Amino acid sequence: METTVTPKEALRRLKAGNQRFLQGGHSLTALDLEKMRGELVSGQHPFAVVIACSDSRVPPSLIFDQDLGDLFVIRVAGNVVGPSQVASVEYAVDVLKSSLVVVVGHTGCGAIGAAVKAMLNPDLHYSPSMDMLMGRIGEAIEDDPAFSDAPSIDAKCTIAGRANVQHALGNLVSLSDIIGTAVSEGRLELIGAEYDMASGIVHWMR
Ligand SMILES: [Zn+2]
Repeated sequence: METTVTPKEALRRLKAGNQRFLQGGHSLTALDLEKMRGELVSGQHPFAVVIACSDSRVPPSLIFDQDLGDLFVIRVAGNVVGPSQVASVEYAVDVLKSSLVVVVGHTGCGAIGAAVKAMLNPDLHYSPSMDMLMGRIGEAIEDDPAFSDAPSIDAKCTIAGRANVQHALGNLVSLSDIIGTAVSEGRLELIGAEYDMASGIVHWMR
C-alpha cells in the first residue's frame, strides 16, 4: 500500500511514467489488475493530483503511465480552476495526502482556441455556461501584452494555453488556505506542464 511520497519523488514518478508512455507504456495482465483492485478496496493514496483538459486525447493515467490508485485526476475543458476544482484538490491534499499537483495543458486545445476567438471578438457568445468557462480562460490573458502582441492566432493560442496553466496554479493558492498552507509548509508542490499531442512528450514549466 502506498505511503506518502515527497513532492520530489512524485514528480520523478510522473517524469518516468511519461518516458514509459513514449516507449509504449507498461501492460498489465487481468491478474495484476485483480490484485490491484483488491488492494485498493480499503482506500486510496494517490501520490499526485493532475488537473487536465477533458480532451479525449489527453488521458492523464495513460500519458503518465500510472496505475489504478496512483493519480487523483480532475478533468474539465480547458483545465481551468474554479471552486469545484479547488475543493477536489483540497480533499486530495488534506485527506488523501497527495504531495504534488500538476496542471497540464496541451497543444491544440479546443477550449483555448474558443477562448482566444472570444477574446478577439467581444460580440461572440456561446452558451451562458460556455461563456463562463471562456471568461475563466480569458482572465489568464486579458492583461498580457505577449498575448496582444502575438502575430498570429496560433501564437496567441500557445501563449494563452501556457498563461492559462499559470493562472490555474495561481488560483489554487489564492482560493485555498488549505493548499496555500501545504505549499508553504513544504508538504505540497504545484507545477505546470504542457502535453504535446503530436510527440506525446510532457514539457514541464520549470
Ligand atoms: Zn483541451
